Order: sequence, then C-alpha cells, then structure tokens
Amino acid sequence: MKQDFLNALERAQQEKNMSIDEMMILLSAQEGEETGALFSLANKIRHKYVGEEVHLRGLLEISNYCTRNCLYCGLRLDNQPLVRYRMTEEEIIDTAYRAEHHGFKTIVLQSGEDPYYSTDMLEKMIAKIKKETDLVVTLSLGEKDREDYKRFREAGANRYLLKHEIMNPLIFKKLKPDSLWRERIQCIAWLRELGYEVGSGCMVGLPGQSLSDLAQDILFMKRMNVDMVGIGPFIPHAQTPLKDEKMGDLTLTLKAVAVSRIVLKDINMPATTAIETIHPEGRKRALEAGANVLMPNISPVENRKHYEIYPNKAALDLEEAKKLINALGRKVGQGHGNRMKRN
Ligand code: SAH
Repeated sequence: MKQDFLNALERAQQEKNMSIDEMMILLSAQEGEETGALFSLANKIRHKYVGEEVHLRGLLEISNYCTRNCLYCGLRLDNQPLVRYRMTEEEIIDTAYRAEHHGFKTIVLQSGEDPYYSTDMLEKMIAKIKKETDLVVTLSLGEKDREDYKRFREAGANRYLLKHEIMNPLIFKKLKPDSLWRERIQCIAWLRELGYEVGSGCMVGLPGQSLSDLAQDILFMKRMNVDMVGIGPFIPHAQTPLKDEKMGDLTLTLKAVAVSRIVLKDINMPATTAIETIHPEGRKRALEAGANVLMPNISPVENRKHYEIYPNKAALDLEEAKKLINALGRKVGQGHGNRMKRN
C-alpha cells in the first residue's frame, strides 16, 4: 500500500476531519489491498455508528412522467418512445397499506417531475397515509417551491430525497439544462429548514466528472449535514443524448460509498439499485463497504419496466432483501430507521 494512502487511512481511522486531498487519496485506492482496507474501515465505522440493522424502505415509483430533460435520465421529456404511466391516488394509498401489511416501516414515493399531482392532491394523500398507517413517508418528487415542501411536511411527510447529482456547476448545467444548480441546492437547504430528514447524493462516472468533483460531492453532503446519502454509478440509457458515454465504474462507486460513510458517519445510506444493475453482487458489496439500507421495489409489476431511468434496472423484492441481510449476518431493521445522531 502506498504511503500517502496509509496516512489518509490512518487519519480516517482516527476519525479526523478529512480534507479534500485526503478524500481524493482514499477515492484513488488501488484495487486489491488498498480497496480492501478502505471498505473494511467503512464497514467498521458503519458498525460503530449505525449498527447491524439494515433498514428496508419500500420504493413506490408513482409516475414516470417528467417535464425536465436531464441528459442522463431515461424519463426525460424528449424520450418519446417511453410508455408513460401514473398511479391514481387510490392506487398509491392502497399500495401504502399493503407495504405496511408486509412489514415495511417506510414508504418512498418517487416520480419524475409530474405536475399532474397538485400540491392539494399530494397533501391529502400524505395526510391519509399518515393517519391510517404507522409508515414513515419519504418523498422524492424533485424540485418544488418552499411552500409545497412546507405543506407536505405539515401533512406529515418525514423525509425527502433530492440528490444534488453533481456539485461541479459546469457539468450540472450541461446535464440538467432546465435546472439551476443553485436552485437545487436551495431546495435541499429548505428541506433541512423545514425539519425533514434530508437525503442527497450523486452519480459516479458522469461524463467529465473528476475525482476532485466526487470529493466535493461528499464534502458538500457533509457540510449540509444530510441525513441520507444515495450514491450510484451513471448508467447510459440508449434513448438519451448520453447513450454513447461510458458507464460508471463499480469499484469507484464502492469507494465513494465507503468514503461517504467515513466522512458522514451516522447517516443512512442505501446499497442502490444502480450498483446492483452494473454488477450482480453490487448491493452485497455496497452493504460491506458502508451501506445500511435496502430499497425493495413495491411498484405494481406492470409499471416497473417503464420506470426506466436507466436500462435493465435490477429488481429487488422483500424476500430477496431479507435473504441478503441474513446471508451477511446482519439484522433486518425493526424500527423506523431514523437517523441515529451520535454527535
Ligand atoms: N425526479 C426526482 C427523482 C429522480 S429519479 C428528482 O429529480 O429528484 C432518481 C435518481 O435516479 C436521480 O436522482 C438520479 O441520481 C438517478 N438517475 C437518473 N438517471 C440515471 C442514470 N442514467 N444512471 C444512473 N442514475 C440515474
């Protein structure tokens, strides 16, 4: 192992604040002994701060309509051939009941940016789910006005996932031509102010993204004191302008997961579907490199193939998730799985 790597790892082990340079050194760990040592440290820190429980979140993809044109995403407006669907309020509420019945403690409502669901509608839906179940409600509906976030929060929504996607403002501008970087960051700040548990995250291997960008992504999440971090490789989709770009690398993605755990410590972090999509043992490896959450898909089966943010999305059902957790000698989370703040 190289000396600068050993030095950075030593400081990480002592739980010192990591500088950008040190994060970059860890992110450059050579595959083999160095990545082994990095993942094992992340796993230890995971154990120390969030324990052996792996929390399950039921992911319900309520609509694949989207008004935006993000260059990487298969749900983009200009992907005309994509078959579009949206769930009705009744279907969504019904799926929430069933999720609770199957033992989920958290339901995540995710969609493209679909104005069909008005603030009134969403507010009513959230209030009903909160009134009639004991579920934690997580939303992942994209950028909204502060007032909308406030009303959802008052209706009982607990958490919100809004990945910043990439901190490098030039790449952000290119890849999200109809979003503004500072507005997305502003959304994350509002969500914090409003008392949500906030999830952010980024993609790994976006065209033009450097190791320093990736270190900045992690530092940003630390500065924002986010509660949840979602990291996945970029996967090119054939019906997007990025179709000919290279896919994000598995090892680099796992390194980003590990460094996020080392830097952010007590956060909740899923082993994401995207990691499993690029490698058949991706989720397992992420759980062994710092992750502590799985998000089984609870969308109606007929919709799943149409929620094609990227192609060949890996499936995960509740039983498979439990099997994986048991095989790793970990425990299925019994409570709501809120962030356990230790400091
Ligand atoms: N509309 C919501 C939800 C987006 S879909 C929002 O804007 O927050 C959820 C996540 O999928 C995105 O945050 C993005 O990180 C990821 N994603 C989209 N396209 C992808 C691709 N081609 N490869 C990997 N991840 C992708």
